[in-house]
Amino acid sequence: MPTASLWTRASAGLAAPEVTVEVHLSAGLPAFNVVGLPESTVRESRERVRSALLNSHFDWPDYRITVNLAPADLPKGGGRFDLPIALGLLAASGQLPAAALVGREFYGELALDGRIRPGRGLMAAVREATAAKRVCAVPAANASALALLPGSRVVGAEDLLSLCGTIKTQAPSATAATAIEEPAEEQPDLLDVRGQHAARRGLEIAAAGGHHLLMVGPPGAGKTLLASRLPGILPESTEQELLTRWLIADHVGLPLRHGRPFRNPHHSASAVALVGGGAQPAPGEITLAHGGVLFLDELPEFPRHVLDTLRQPLESGEVMVARAKGRHTYPAHFQLVAAMNPCPCGYLGSEDTACRCTPDAISRYQMRVSGPLLDRIDLHLTLERQRAAQILCADDEAESSAAVRQRVAIARERQLARQGCANSALSAEAVLSICELDGATQRWFQGACDQLQISARGIHRCLRVARTLADMAAEPRVSKPALLEAIGYRPTAVNR
Ligand SMILES: [Zn+2]
Repeated sequence: MPTASLWTRASAGLAAPEVTVEVHLSAGLPAFNVVGLPESTVRESRERVRSALLNSHFDWPDYRITVNLAPADLPKGGGRFDLPIALGLLAASGQLPAAALVGREFYGELALDGRIRPGRGLMAAVREATAAKRVCAVPAANASALALLPGSRVVGAEDLLSLCGTIKTQAPSATAATAIEEPAEEQPDLLDVRGQHAARRGLEIAAAGGHHLLMVGPPGAGKTLLASRLPGILPESTEQELLTRWLIADHVGLPLRHGRPFRNPHHSASAVALVGGGAQPAPGEITLAHGGVLFLDELPEFPRHVLDTLRQPLESGEVMVARAKGRHTYPAHFQLVAAMNPCPCGYLGSEDTACRCTPDAISRYQMRVSGPLLDRIDLHLTLERQRAAQILCADDEAESSAAVRQRVAIARERQLARQGCANSALSAEAVLSICELDGATQRWFQGACDQLQISARGIHRCLRVARTLADMAAEPRVSKPALLEAIGYRPTAVNR
C-alpha cells in the first residue's frame, strides 16, 4: 500500500527535535487520523490540509489515511506540521515524486487557499536541520531571516502549489539573506545625556566589568535615560551570542536585531512574565534580556516574591522552566540595572524639596528590596536631581556611545585575556587571588574596611569594582585610588 515519509521538527524550548512524518493510505472507509501525541492544533490540520490541497488543484485521496508523527512520546503542537502532512499525502498518492522529499525538511502552516503562513520558532529548526546537512522549505515570509543562519540553505515558498513546483527540481534555488534594519531609536546615544558626569562614569564601569547596577535618586534624575544607554556601550557581541539572541527573538516572534536588548518590565509584571513559565512554557523578560540589560525601575514596587525569582538566574545565567507540558532551559545571562527613589516621596536628601516621609515609612520602603538581591549588585550609584543649568547648557564634555564603547571593549578584553570572564563573574576565591594588593595598599584597605564596617561580601564587591577600574586605567595591579573609588560605590545607608 502507498506510503510516504519525510522530516520536520517540533519545538521544545530553544531546541527542535526531529520528527518523522509517515503517511499511509489504505483501503477502507475514507478517514483521516493523526497519531503520535498531536495537540488539538495538529489534529485540526486535517481541515486545513484538505482545503489547501483542493484549492491548489490537487486531488484529495479517498482512502483511509493514517498520519504518524514519530517519536510518539514527543508532544507536538502548532500549525507547522500542516505542510509536511500535505506533502506526505501528495507523495503517497503519487501526485508528487518521493524523490522531492529526500534530504529536505518542511515546516509551515497552511491557509485554506493553499498559502503558507509565517510561523515562529523556525530558526531553531533550521539550525538543527543545517547541522544535519538538510535543505529546509519554509514560509516565504520567514525565509530571508532564516537564511541569516551561517551555512543554512532555506527555500521560501508562498504557497503549496509553487513549493511543489520548486522541490521537483534537484537543487531548488535558496533564498538569499537580507540585512537587518535597525531603527535608530532603538539604540539611544549617550550624547543625549547632559551633565551627570558621575553617573556616566558609573555606567561606563558597569559596562566595562559587566557589573549589575543600582541607581538611587529622586524623580527626574535621569535614571531611565541613563539605563537605556547601557546596551549601546557594551562590547560587540560575538557571533555565538548574536545567534542565541536571534534564536530567542525568533522563538517569541520579535524582530531580529544586531543591537543588545534593553528590557524594561513594569513593576506589575508577574513572576511568570519575568522569569518565564505558563501553561505552554514560554521564556520571560530575563531571557528576552539575554546578552543585554534588564532594567527594573521603581525596584521596591516589585513584589518581593517576584524579585526573589531572579536570584537563581542571576547566579547561573540560565533559567529552567518546568511545567506539566515539558521542562525547558532558557539562557538568561543579563545585566541587571535597578532604579529606586531614596524614600516613598523621592526627595530624601534633596536640597530644594523637603522630604515628608516618616522614618518608619522610609525604612519600610527600603526593606521591600531583599538583601540577597542587593548583595548581587556590585555598583550602587547615588544620583542627584539635575539643575536647570545642566539641562539647558550644551555639554562640551559629552561623549558619544561609540567612543565609550571603544574604551569598554579594551577593558573587557583585558579581563577575558586574564581570567576568561568579566570581573563581575569572579567568584569570592578568584577575586582574592586576582586582585592581590601590595603590602601598603593591603594594610590601608584593611583599616578602611574595619573603620567603615564593610562585610566580607562588601569586600569582594569592592575588589571586583576596583579590578575593573584598574583594567580601565590599564594598571596591572589594583591601586589605592581605585579602591577608594570602589568604596564609594558600595551600598550606603540609604540603600543599606
Ligand atoms: Zn520622602
